Amino acid sequence: MGKPKLQIIVLFQNLGDQEAYFARSPAPPLAGALLAGLTPPVVEVELLHEMIRPIDYDTDADFVALSFMDFCAPHAYDVAARFRKLGKTVVAGGKYASTFPEQVLPHVDSVVVGEAERVWPEVVEDMVAGRLKKRYDAPFAPPLDGIPPPRYDLVESDFDVPVVTEATRGCPYTCSFCQLTIERAPYRMRPIGDVIHDLTATSRLPFHKRKIAMLYDNNLGGDIGYAKELLAEIAKLKLWALGTQFSFDCLHDDEFVDLLARANCTMAFIGLESLSEPSLASVHKKHNKVEEYKELFVKLKHHGIMTMTGLILALDEDTPEYYRDLPAQLDEIEPSVILLSISIPIPGTPFHQTVLEEGRIIDENLAHYEGDHLVITPKHVTPEQVAETFQRVNRSFYSRRRMFRRWRRLIAGYRCARNPWAWTFHSGILSYVFFKLSIFQKDHAEQRVYPLSASKALTNTTGRKSAPPTGG
Ligand code: SF4
Repeated sequence: MGKPKLQIIVLFQNLGDQEAYFARSPAPPLAGALLAGLTPPVVEVELLHEMIRPIDYDTDADFVALSFMDFCAPHAYDVAARFRKLGKTVVAGGKYASTFPEQVLPHVDSVVVGEAERVWPEVVEDMVAGRLKKRYDAPFAPPLDGIPPPRYDLVESDFDVPVVTEATRGCPYTCSFCQLTIERAPYRMRPIGDVIHDLTATSRLPFHKRKIAMLYDNNLGGDIGYAKELLAEIAKLKLWALGTQFSFDCLHDDEFVDLLARANCTMAFIGLESLSEPSLASVHKKHNKVEEYKELFVKLKHHGIMTMTGLILALDEDTPEYYRDLPAQLDEIEPSVILLSISIPIPGTPFHQTVLEEGRIIDENLAHYEGDHLVITPKHVTPEQVAETFQRVNRSFYSRRRMFRRWRRLIAGYRCARNPWAWTFHSGILSYVFFKLSIFQKDHAEQRVYPLSASKALTNTTGRKSAPPTGG
């Protein structure tokens, strides 16, 4: 008899009975491949990203592990119910299940609370032996050494960038909307050798997929000395492209930016959140300085690095005047790609506590907490102004004319190449990443943002993750 089978399913959108929406994301979330890498060989393991292919309820898997974020919880409960009806054992984990295990537990057979590394092998062994406990509590903020590489070979081939990992966890800052503020853990770093091992544990992938990688840190620059040391080591791998995430203030450090370029970084995700200083102050994001955005983005462009920036509407100090001027301000600062969302009061965060105490939550359906719906009463703008701005800014920013203009300036701004060949090669990769991410966001706007009327923005029940900006 063969081994029992475990299927790990990563949920990323609230689909209900709709067909899976191919999200065109170049890289998968880390959770699934990481969990597969941690799974002991007592089971055969499969990995499914629902954003790429639909869940197969006819699977011959004996066990199902569900990984999901808060806004996917209602969908996860439906998925779990269907599998349990078919006699499968269902385990849940992830940030939401860790924060609210008592809410998740009635829907599944077992919940993993906390970071899975130290307990997951035990969960799998117990599952196979038929002695699964209802709850497994991982130690709080354990050291990050010895984590095995993610199973990139199990990631769907639709993903252009299967090589994803993280070097650190946590962030020194305390932005009030950020998931990391739910339970403050110290900033932790993995041994650099372990990270390099992940980035090179790629022998089962086609050659071109081994050459591009994504670091999913919340803030790679939380310890800038460590980040520099790591980037110097990554540079030796001669990747074609690297994406990473860090806080805006890291850009003041010229050596850090030089090392990003030496590591062939092409994309930096930075949580700008707002182009309004009062709105930034309202969420305690004081390390972002609006007057520095343009200059520091130009510095990145000189090094051949595009920016993907998170921006949030419906922050407490947003005004109609700010919304009116936002497209022009974006033209001026010129981030390469924006990921625009409506503020999400993630349960457990200080921002959620504030709007709850002020009686400003108007929608408690967790499925709407994905960044495409207004679920709170804004302070100085109307819901209609938020919805109108959400659409107008997307339309303007992702018009073909502006996209091509940004691309032209991005390539023209790239100066710091070692030689003409390096410039040409990096410019080609940079163009590919730029259009891939731009089209991904444009596509999202067309499918999910433009069809919303102001009232539907409050009530629409479909949703797709637009990656709530919790990093950098
Ligand atoms: S939003 Fe970014 S900078 Fe702020 S606490 Fe979270 S990870 Fe840190």
